[in-house]
Amino acid sequence: MEVNILENFIQIKNNIPGHVKVIPVSKRQSKEYMMLLYSEGYKVFGENRVQELLEKSEALPKDIEWHFIGHLQRNKVKYLTPFIHLIHSVDSFRLLKEINKEAQKIDRKINCLLQFHIATEDTKYGFDINEAREMLGSSDFLSMQNIEIKGVMGMATFTDNKKQLQKEFQQLKQNFDELKTNHFKAESFCEISMGMSNDYQVAIEQGSTMLRIGTGIFGKRK
Ligand SMILES: *Cc1c(COP(=O)(O)O)cnc(C)c1O
Repeated sequence: MEVNILENFIQIKNNIPGHVKVIPVSKRQSKEYMMLLYSEGYKVFGENRVQELLEKSEALPKDIEWHFIGHLQRNKVKYLTPFIHLIHSVDSFRLLKEINKEAQKIDRKINCLLQFHIATEDTKYGFDINEAREMLGSSDFLSMQNIEIKGVMGMATFTDNKKQLQKEFQQLKQNFDELKTNHFKAESFCEISMGMSNDYQVAIEQGSTMLRIGTGIFGKRK
């Protein structure tokens, strides 16, 4: 069982294009499992709960690059800003403002992705393109100095229907392209975080640059 974690990860990496990054999603997985990757030099992990991320980051080595991928409450932003590498799941203007405010206090610039709502399920968080346009055109947005928008993120519907997955990922890619053309010409706006264990092949075909893979590496969650 434990040997497979490293093998699973390496197998995925060996079968995708070199420019696509894999973020192992370690939520509800043990620190021992995470160390199996860490000890081989793989030091990037994604978590979706602030409490769990803090607990793990205190116990595990300090050179881990932490990614936050879950819905983030504004009152918890301040716990992440000192050390988080990338927040994938910025799903509202209010949240982005809070991140900017907390980052300003400690003189950091926080890397963020804008999460878009692309699934048919209405339980998933995120902007729609009109909300994003409105935010990006506002003077409040343009005055924020302590955030760096690196790209977009989305979660597709949980389905095996390849056509539907293609359509949803295409939508996210289109949003990315529009924002790139109209708002973010810089090269640093370059990430499309899409694709999980069950749909990452389709996500890559549609232009993903970052996969978030949990069970496909670590097995079933506790
Ligand atoms: C849990 C989670 C993942 C990983 O899901 P798997 O199906 O285990 O690969 C990816 N992204 C987000 C936002 C998640 O919450």
